Amino acid sequence: MMASATLKPRHEQRILNGHLWIYQGNVARLDGEPSPGDIVDVFAADGEFLGRGYYNPHSQIAIRLLTRVKEPVDRSFFLRRIQRARAWRARVMPDATSYRLIYSEGDLLPGLIVDRYEDVLVVQFLTLGMDARREIIVEALVEAESPRAVYERSDVPSRRYEGLELRQGLLWGELPEQPMVIRENGLSFEIDVTGGQKTGYFLDQKENRRSLAPFVPGARVLDVFCHNGAFAVHALRYGAREVLGVDSSEQAVQSARRNAALNGYTKSAWFVEANAFDFLREMDRSSERFDVVILDPPAFAKSKAHFEPARRGYKEVNLRGLKLLHPGGFLVTCSCSHHMPADEFYRLVLEAANDARRPLRLVESRGQAKDHPILAGVPESAYLKCLIFQVLE
Ligand code: SAH
Repeated sequence: MMASATLKPRHEQRILNGHLWIYQGNVARLDGEPSPGDIVDVFAADGEFLGRGYYNPHSQIAIRLLTRVKEPVDRSFFLRRIQRARAWRARVMPDATSYRLIYSEGDLLPGLIVDRYEDVLVVQFLTLGMDARREIIVEALVEAESPRAVYERSDVPSRRYEGLELRQGLLWGELPEQPMVIRENGLSFEIDVTGGQKTGYFLDQKENRRSLAPFVPGARVLDVFCHNGAFAVHALRYGAREVLGVDSSEQAVQSARRNAALNGYTKSAWFVEANAFDFLREMDRSSERFDVVILDPPAFAKSKAHFEPARRGYKEVNLRGLKLLHPGGFLVTCSCSHHMPADEFYRLVLEAANDARRPLRLVESRGQAKDHPILAGVPESAYLKCLIFQVLE
């Protein structure tokens, strides 16, 4: 008999609205003594079947749903989910060779991330329920994708909430020598899947990088928090006269320099290793000005508790970035923190603009690329904001 969980009365609404997470506090009764990681059937208090998911008694999220039908969660289940995820990418980014193949809840596989970098798959098992199924998941990935290698980057601190250790290493095949080169929007980028930030590259900005095209011809561009220079190199490809990138990571800055060169830009790209806050203040003092400023900071708000300090951080970089723009120039400003809601982010940029006496026109309001699909009903699956403003005279 499959173990089951029955929710407290009226605790099913969030699940009926599309969410996949069931907290310990939602559960009234467990039957069948499930072990950590086991599959359980979930029922509303009135007995309605809600779905099937994996159980973890050690996490605040007791159950994450994998399916809303009574089907076995086996290798062929994962294979079908992977094929469906692949079909979505083929539809929305048919030419992409590097993209997020599996985006956790967005692909109805909560706790699993798979990034495809050309013929290499980089996997993150974020939860106990997924970690417990690592072997069949890797088998299904190999069958569906025929990769050259499957490499694990489960070095994610949130695994500790699940009672899991951090781990990384080769799971299957042969990893090409790192760094390796991937293609995005017709450009080349070297990445290191073994040592780079996250799984090696920020795939979620793919479409936002492309959106620079109308704003950068002839421009002098400042790329703040540039990482390996992806925005900067796109700006050059779309006609920027000069780009200056800044990042506090030495590894990122060196890789940005190599990426500019790799795409043939040797005289128009400059990268500096510095703290962005100090650097922006310095630029202001030295009267440097730009036609386009890109701000893509790390998630300042890692949880709700960090909201206020995070808001101040975002406001400060936006204020400083805006001050460096020529009249008529463009601000491309991002926030990748789920805990900074889109309307709040918009509001704080306007506050910064008021403080800087730079009236703005909203040009575009953008989000994460379509290989990071947002599951309606799971607000946590939406996190990236990217606003493009023009500074009016
Ligand atoms: N724009 C990049 C992604 C940026 S991720 C892209 O398109 O791929 C955020 C970056 O901010 C990381 O590379 C990190 O090294 C850098 N960073 C974090 N704190 C910083 C700080 N205080 N000053 C400058 N860079 C910082």
